[in-house]
Amino acid sequence: MTPFYRHNGSLMSDQRSLTDLAEQYGTPLYVYNRGAIESAWQEFSTALEGHPHLICYAVKANSNLAVLDALARLGSGFDIVSVGELKRVLAAGGKPEQIVFSGVGKSEREMAAGLEAGIRCFNVESASELERLAVVATAHGTSAQVSLRINPDVDAQTHPYISTGLKENKFGIGMADAMATYRRAAELDGIDVQGIDCHIGSQLTSLEPYADAFALLVQMVDALKEEGIALSHIDVGGGQGIQYSAEDDRLDVASWAQCIRSAVGDRDLEILVEPGRYIVGQAGVLLTRVEYLKSNEDRHFAVVDAAMNDLIRPALYSAWQAIESVESLDRPSRLYDVVGPICESADFLGKQRELAIAEKDLLCVRSSGAYASVMSSNYNTRPRAAEVMVDGDNAFLVRAREETEALFAQEFLLP
Ligand SMILES: *Cc1c(COP(=O)(O)O)cnc(C)c1O
Repeated sequence: MTPFYRHNGSLMSDQRSLTDLAEQYGTPLYVYNRGAIESAWQEFSTALEGHPHLICYAVKANSNLAVLDALARLGSGFDIVSVGELKRVLAAGGKPEQIVFSGVGKSEREMAAGLEAGIRCFNVESASELERLAVVATAHGTSAQVSLRINPDVDAQTHPYISTGLKENKFGIGMADAMATYRRAAELDGIDVQGIDCHIGSQLTSLEPYADAFALLVQMVDALKEEGIALSHIDVGGGQGIQYSAEDDRLDVASWAQCIRSAVGDRDLEILVEPGRYIVGQAGVLLTRVEYLKSNEDRHFAVVDAAMNDLIRPALYSAWQAIESVESLDRPSRLYDVVGPICESADFLGKQRELAIAEKDLLCVRSSGAYASVMSSNYNTRPRAAEVMVDGDNAFLVRAREETEALFAQEFLLP
């Protein structure tokens, strides 16, 4: 069953009506479906069954504690990019030995926190980071397990802001420097070389860039082995795309897994994967109420109570997400620009959408589980939305709506 479906004209999630949830918790409201998160994770688990592997959910896609909790209970590992995410994962019951630490700008404080927690691996993104990590680990009387993140210079064919595997991107170590950096890593005190890593971008819907990157990585594993540097894992990042609209291609996880399994072949390499969007993207929606309808000579506008501070993807990436009425009601149908109350023309959730709505109606913005609430801000002093997790008959509040006073409680008047 799909996590959000229509029953007698009303949108539901499991046994709960979205209209009832909006009335109980107010709007804007994020609603997640636990079963959908779990079954997306299981797709990876099933596809990699029989080969040693670890699924490290990319926390940055949705770091709500309840999301992490649900995944930790399945035995998931986690991919973090900050000490803040490390603390969230540990608070949610994630195991340190299943955490990998990615990111181009890890501070010494973050390195120390990772070492103290005993994480599985640091995905090192530059020669300088490697040297600094060696110093920090040595000072802690330990050694850091590392992978080097390679930038394979392949085109992920996705939006430029979420493409990360090209030479022009800031991520990883270039192919030209990779071997020398491995040699240096192998001789450094405080560094324990474990693996190789790459992440070429997000929202990939074609297997081709993956296949290109996997082939380069495996070649490098073999070349390193010849030099006596034996790796025990290959971390292939995330990036698996979802269908925001029916016209989008969707990456097939089983085929993706077949692609990495055949690249690895019979090499003795554990496969690590860091999916984010694929696990949570379709498992969440944003509910928002129509405040006003207005028209000019050119357009009809639906002014709603959610804004770019709640969901920035349309403004930041020109992302398209489906918008529909929660209740199918008898209304005149028109093309609307669905816009928020913020004083920016970029403040829209969707443009030119066919909707049959009236003021005070409830709208649902689909595919809002990933890179949605995590990117929200308090711009215009707007409290961040509440979040609810549906699980069968139950709906649990997993994040309370922020109180306005709390938004400026850390600010001070002049003396
Ligand atoms: C963002 C990110 C991911 C997850 O990407 P998705 O497209 O959400 O799957 C995985 N690994 C790294 C290093 C990332 O930066």
